Amino acid sequence: MIYKNISQYVQQLSEFLGGYVETQVDSLMEVVFPDGLAQQLNINEYYKFYFEPRPLMEENSLVLNYNSSLLEQLGVSLKEKTIFSQTAVSSLYLKKARLEELFKKRLNFINSTYKIIEIKPSTCSYLILNYKYTAVSEERKDGLTSVAINEHNLFLVNNLYDEFEALFIDETNAALEVETLLPPSPLKVVFSMVSMAIEKILKEELADFQKSLNYRLEKDIKRLSDYFNAIIKEIDKKIAKKKTNNENFDKELSRLDFTEKELERKIIDQKTRYQINVNFKPFSALRVIIPVVALKTLLRCKKKSREINFVWNPIIKDLENPCCKKCFSPVANLFLDEESLDILCPACRG
Ligand SMILES: [Zn+2]
Repeated sequence: MIYKNISQYVQQLSEFLGGYVETQVDSLMEVVFPDGLAQQLNINEYYKFYFEPRPLMEENSLVLNYNSSLLEQLGVSLKEKTIFSQTAVSSLYLKKARLEELFKKRLNFINSTYKIIEIKPSTCSYLILNYKYTAVSEERKDGLTSVAINEHNLFLVNNLYDEFEALFIDETNAALEVETLLPPSPLKVVFSMVSMAIEKILKEELADFQKSLNYRLEKDIKRLSDYFNAIIKEIDKKIAKKKTNNENFDKELSRLDFTEKELERKIIDQKTRYQINVNFKPFSALRVIIPVVALKTLLRCKKKSREINFVWNPIIKDLENPCCKKCFSPVANLFLDEESLDILCPACRG
């Protein structure tokens, strides 16, 4: 999910860290942080956060933007607090009836056959990673985005964050049923999958930004072309005139060549100027373990076969759609790569 604005993010972050938040107008938020956290981070317990510049600041007030050091501090704290904490949510309703039916309805195996071997309650860990990104071009754009990934089967879960509050209903219940935990993939693999997915998400997120830059680029190129083409036209006229009068027109020819090259060079300059460079880095991470229903399935394609656990996720109350291994889109019509048996979408299968 993309944070609509910085205040929404600050509110979620503060509340998760145990703070009390009050907002009366959009541009102002009052937050009281818990004692321990304030001491640990060496920050005040009470803050007035503004999200717009102000001429005068009262005591304990701050104008927050994406580069505020306090935000970084809170982010680090979130990471420390959460990356190792595992919240088990046992009170969620697990669907068991008619799962096979749902599976059959939702997923279409185009070049493989499947057999569900076992359906059983399990637990599964999810990593929710928040990223801060900066896109720099003629303008600069900062933002935050997040990704949730099933660490076992690497399915990216849309909307997990939106349903997230449900996870904190029972923080005292730390009893994890480790023996039923579907084994997580190595963190390195999880991260590389997430990084690639983030690139795709940012491309979509920055589409409007790109569009407005393209619009300005086109306008600039048109302005340049009009200007230089007028000069080129003038030179052409002179050349034609000299030709009819049998005069030496080498000078005009080299001017023409220079002007044409100058236009090309200026267009390349403009294109470079409007190129977007995007940097992104993980800002905070949260691992949650939740009970799920695992559908252990055997997929068979030609002579090869592969076992894969599909998951019914009680947070989103749905069967998780697998993601294409190449483009990360959720897939309903599954192709298997005949060599690796990786899941591919129809477009990526070609
Ligand atoms: Zn694909």
